[in-house]
Amino acid sequence: MTQKEKDTLKKIIENDIVTTEDQITILEEKVKPIAPDCSLGRLTRLEAMGEQDVNNKILDESRVKLTRLKNALLRIDKEMFGICIECEEEIGFGRMSIRPESVRCVACASNL
Ligand SMILES: [Zn+2]
Repeated sequence: MTQKEKDTLKKIIENDIVTTEDQITILEEKVKPIAPDCSLGRLTRLEAMGEQDVNNKILDESRVKLTRLKNALLRIDKEMFGICIECEEEIGFGRMSIRPESVRCVACASNL
């Protein structure tokens, strides 16, 4: 990977971190417990809880992603950045620009 590509990825990662942090803030609002004496009807309440489950799942994923993005930012100037941890081949700029937190190439990631 060239220095120029790394600079581009650095910007993408920094942007992604901001976006992910925003998303986490919004989701944390959404997953606050629903009051039991809520005026919502039973069905609506079940729906709200179902939605909370979904949001909680996205929240967990967002937190994991945020950690990975921050780790990627720490690794970016190191030799191992952009190298697959399984097969030690270059992950490739295309994949890294879409998912800069990737630590595996497409082939290894699909074998998980
Ligand atoms: Zn690989």
